[in-house]
Amino acid sequence: MRRKLAAGNWKMNGGSAELTEIRHLTGVLPDSPPDILICPPATLIDRMRSQIGDAPVALGGQDCHNKKSGAHTGDISAAMLRDAGASYVILGHSERRADHGETDAIVKAKTEAAWAEGLTAIVCVGETETQRDAGQALEVVGAQLADSIPADATVENLVVAYEPVWAIGTGRTPSLEEIAQVHDFMRGALAARFGADAAGGVRLLYGGSVKPGNATEIFAVSNVDGALVGGASLKASDFGAIIAAL
Ligand code: 13P
Repeated sequence: MRRKLAAGNWKMNGGSAELTEIRHLTGVLPDSPPDILICPPATLIDRMRSQIGDAPVALGGQDCHNKKSGAHTGDISAAMLRDAGASYVILGHSERRADHGETDAIVKAKTEAAWAEGLTAIVCVGETETQRDAGQALEVVGAQLADSIPADATVENLVVAYEPVWAIGTGRTPSLEEIAQVHDFMRGALAARFGADAAGGVRLLYGGSVKPGNATEIFAVSNVDGALVGGASLKASDFGAIIAAL
């Protein structure tokens, strides 16, 4: 049985003032919550760790370098994230792929670096609108999975997030049938590569305009094991409602 995961990606948002949202969130958690993860800007991980206390909320980074340390100004290593209190890291988000030219090969190297430090990697894949309109969604997602995920994936070290680029921050989502088609396809692709047992335990998240109003129906879709939430994870009331829907 795969444990459900509600993951919030704060992107480049949040400072000291927003730490209160974490206090609010821990106050509204259901009795038996799913796994909960917040990926704040790296500047907040340490202080958020203190705010969370004993509450069942994990923390993650939004990217890491593929090297452990060295002359890489502005970058953060997986070891640094772990040292700050993170247990997960988002890798290959479409905004990193677009803004920083991250290729599948780079995402793969970063994933290996994350695994070397014991972090669980949330590897993101997803097609652009042009690719979907051209009927290439599965082909694009299949290639990203094949080329971004290293060989030694396990149930513990890997989560995959399907985030269609055109659904991120737009208020638009694929139909439930389209989400099911991609998630079923991803499960099959992982099974073909890693075997049914490992692939059967890897959590597959949907991301892109998940809100309290659409979370319940999206979470009912086959092979959707949770969500990677952007905008709606910034407010404790919204993220709390999404968690409750899971
Ligand atoms: P939104 O939920 O704001 O559409 O962002 C999704 C996302 O990119 C999460 O990583």
